[in-house]
Amino acid sequence: MINKVVIISAPSGAGKTTLVQYILEKFPQMEFSISATSRKPRPNEMEGKDYYFITQEEFKKRIENNEFVEWEEVYPGCFYGTLRSELERIWNKGKIVLFDVDVKGGINLKRIFKDNALSVFISPPNIEVLAERLKKRGTETEESLKTRIEKAVYEMTFQTQFDEVVINDDLKQAQYKITEIINNWLMQNK
Ligand code: ADP
Ligand code: 5GP
Repeated sequence: MINKVVIISAPSGAGKTTLVQYILEKFPQMEFSISATSRKPRPNEMEGKDYYFITQEEFKKRIENNEFVEWEEVYPGCFYGTLRSELERIWNKGKIVLFDVDVKGGINLKRIFKDNALSVFISPPNIEVLAERLKKRGTETEESLKTRIEKAVYEMTFQTQFDEVVINDDLKQAQYKITEIINNWLMQNK
């Protein structure tokens, strides 16, 4: 297995982080790709574990230096991207890179890594459930909730561009489905 990647994308609130945590427990041969972001850390987030938190100025400097494999201004003023050094860090350990990126980023990464990538779209059962989950998570303001929901409606239209789609309605079933998809892919890419 050389330079393989698994890409998990979904509208915000669909359950990507929850499923990514599960995959990391289930598949020790995978390691999470820690993105760089100019967004402020949430109270439970740790530098160098969830993200590399950098200023917008630093982010732009790194874009200039061509340090990113891909980057996006996911929300106005909030930049997110994968550093080339992060991929090397993981591949050097002989591990598979696991990405948690937005939908556009997921499509871009699949274009870059082609057959070396498995791309999975996590879909919420519907937009109402997505909005409910985001509200319950308690991380969003009224304004950022609105932005995320509007973006989610648009992002749902891109799911056919992914290798696989998993509907995250019942969490246990979604976990089972994603395990099956990854196991099949690992078997085919031995
Ligand atoms: P994302 O990373 O896609 O933004 P999260 O994994 O943070 O989404 O999930 C959003 C919220 O929904 C979290 O509070 C999470 O605990 C909850 N959640 C995730 N999957 C389910 C599910 N199948 N049923 C109910 N709640 C869920
Ligand atoms: P959050 O602010 O909720 O942590 O992330 C917002 C969105 O940015 C999520 O959809 C997340 O997957 C995405 N994201 C995180 N890292 C990257 C990255 O490196 N590139 C891209 N394109 N999106 C990312």
